[in-house]
Amino acid sequence: MHSHMDITEKLIHWYSANKRTLPWRGEKDPFRIWLSEIILQQTRVEQGLPYYLRFISTFPGVHDLCRAPESQVLRLWQGLGYYSRARNLHKAARQIVHLYDGVFPSSYKELITLPGIGDYTAAAIASIAFGEPQPAVDGNVKRIISRLLDMEENMNSAKTYTRIKDTCRELMGHHDPGTFNQALMDLGAMQCVPKNPRCTLCPLQDHCLAFKENTVAERPVRYKKQKKKIRHFNFLVIETDRNGCSYVYLEQRKHKDIWTHLYQFPLAESTGLWDESTLPGELIKIFPKQKAFTIKAISPPYKHLLSHQTIHARFFKIQINKDARMESNSWISIPREDITLYAVPRLIEQYLEKEF
Ligand code: SF4
Repeated sequence: MHSHMDITEKLIHWYSANKRTLPWRGEKDPFRIWLSEIILQQTRVEQGLPYYLRFISTFPGVHDLCRAPESQVLRLWQGLGYYSRARNLHKAARQIVHLYDGVFPSSYKELITLPGIGDYTAAAIASIAFGEPQPAVDGNVKRIISRLLDMEENMNSAKTYTRIKDTCRELMGHHDPGTFNQALMDLGAMQCVPKNPRCTLCPLQDHCLAFKENTVAERPVRYKKQKKKIRHFNFLVIETDRNGCSYVYLEQRKHKDIWTHLYQFPLAESTGLWDESTLPGELIKIFPKQKAFTIKAISPPYKHLLSHQTIHARFFKIQINKDARMESNSWISIPREDITLYAVPRLIEQYLEKEF
């Protein structure tokens, strides 16, 4: 059994021999560390690097950034995207000047109150610039820890996040927090990468449970949000005249799904909505016993959002001569004006209000 000490020492040893050379490496100026972290939040290192250099030459310190008009900051940011990062950068610089007299706050607790600085960035600045023992947990770190511990948990849950952070805290021990965090960042960027991690060269291989169990490719487990099912409903608003009275047809939903027991116009579900070109062919299939039908109106498509499905619907108003109940024994015919007596889904209600 290996102790945490072994893992951390191996990690830091690996880092000192293999770390990336980056302009902000070895940097203790919190302003520069902050800038690099914000730029790298949604940007690759190679893309962010020239921006970092341009920013620090234009704004060598927090006072310079504070004094600059927002438009200048945004212009310098151009091409990086996610402009809220630039706006928050500027806002935070103003707060540091006005609330902290231009002295960069030195604790995680203060840092996290600044605009654009979340848990990860606050921990990164506090640990690298001020040596505060705060694990900085980003996607890279989550991936490494989930593999080291062969975690099956959902990576998006708060509980998992806490477990990962606690593990990092334990691993960090009394090592230099900034070095520890940066070593994990580099391991995630260079060795324990998302696809095909280089396990054979990894300093932590002996400790890695996913490697041992041969589950590396499955870690971290990604629980995809269930994709919304898309359905297409063609409603037939069938009208007939009998004894001088106009009738329409309804059916009751029986299935244990959406709208159980509610009434609806006879429904044909399809892979795409019918339209004026496909409707006649479909009607012939549905009404083999009808000699003639008249298409009176085709509604525009309706879109109805439910929690797990999106329904696209269209209503086809059709006039027929013979009683349509012979086509399906689940259809009932009701006088047109009685429709308000039946409980219908919201989607049909909308149609009734607008077009019936
Ligand atoms: S052995 Fe492979 S999966 Fe495990 S930490 Fe190293 S690179 Fe990542």
